[in-house]
Amino acid sequence: KPVLGIESSCDETGVALVSWDPDQPGRGLLAHTLYSQVKLHADYGGVVPELASRDHVRKLMPLVRETLDRAGLGMRDLGGVAYTAGPGLVGALLVGASAARAMAWALDLPAIGVHHMEGHLLAPLLEPDPPEPPFVALLVSGGHSMLVAVRGIGDYEVLGDTLDDAAGEAFDKTAKLMGLPYPGGPVLAAEALKGDPGAYHFARPMTDRPGLDFSFSGLKTQVLLAWNKSDRSEQTRADVASGFEQAIVETLAIKCRRALEATGMSRLIIAGGVGANRRLRAQLAEAGEREGFSVHFPRLEFCTDNGAMIALAGAIRLAAGQAQGPQIKVQPRWSLDTLDPVATA
Ligand code: ATP
Ligand code: MG
Ligand code: FE
Repeated sequence: KPVLGIESSCDETGVALVSWDPDQPGRGLLAHTLYSQVKLHADYGGVVPELASRDHVRKLMPLVRETLDRAGLGMRDLGGVAYTAGPGLVGALLVGASAARAMAWALDLPAIGVHHMEGHLLAPLLEPDPPEPPFVALLVSGGHSMLVAVRGIGDYEVLGDTLDDAAGEAFDKTAKLMGLPYPGGPVLAAEALKGDPGAYHFARPMTDRPGLDFSFSGLKTQVLLAWNKSDRSEQTRADVASGFEQAIVETLAIKCRRALEATGMSRLIIAGGVGANRRLRAQLAEAGEREGFSVHFPRLEFCTDNGAMIALAGAIRLAAGQAQGPQIKVQPRWSLDTLDPVATA
């Protein structure tokens, strides 16, 4: 029976229905809907937590009804409910958790709180021909830059983490300092397409020493200095954007290679919002072909936040018999390597 998944950790309300069959991975998505609050927060240049919570309240139940309609299903057809329990904004998380728990209670269904980054990590399994563990996961999003050794579903070892800004955050802040509109990441990537990739060369932070941690805040400062010294023309902005994007992409690629070497694994998955970056996708796919590792991504729309990844992660755990008692509990901070492994048949 399908699992209803709800994502509300930040500024996207996402709902999806997934029917998980381990023998037919990549085929279980029945319907999904998404409402982005980007316009609501644009004037403030960032997500305003209280506004985010209130908007989740307004949008969530209409999206649930719409998703069920699209799948031609009713509440009575559900087999379980999954929701993002963290990490994220506490008020936003509580909206999804309360709604999910209330539905599960009313319908007498099992419910499970999902780790948002496990959702991102498992999103490639919604695609045809999905990778099986073991694999290395590069999770690059608005709040995280992590390399994870995935030995099985739920069996995660964080190999490297960000020491300051996350990759998506670096994109967003760099876009902002060059006067690009919020949210900056995708806008900066579009600018970079028009730029000369050779015009500016920025550092590849922390690649000159061993280790798998990331640091991107120095890169942002480098860009700021270069931008302030420049003529600040349209073309210069595109050139700087291209140089910045190339620095991030190469840094990520170098660390991915290191993680594959260190673990002896030969499969790489890339997920999270920055995984939608076309240069990153192209250069890593190419590196994989050249160097003999396989590379897997979610489709573009499932790189950024969505309900499908939460429904999938929840469906996998519920199918393994995992569910939690009826309390409404969220974890704004929650480390990925504390999750319970899922025994697979
Ligand atoms: P987290 O998952 O860490 O809690 P989040 O949920 O806010 O953070 P996501 O929705 O996964 O993050 O991703 C959003 C981030 O991805 C933003 O920082 C955005 O700028 C970045 N991003 C989206 N598309 C692109 C792109 N094409 N190129 C670079 N960055 C992008
Ligand atoms: Mg978002
Ligand atoms: Fe996210």
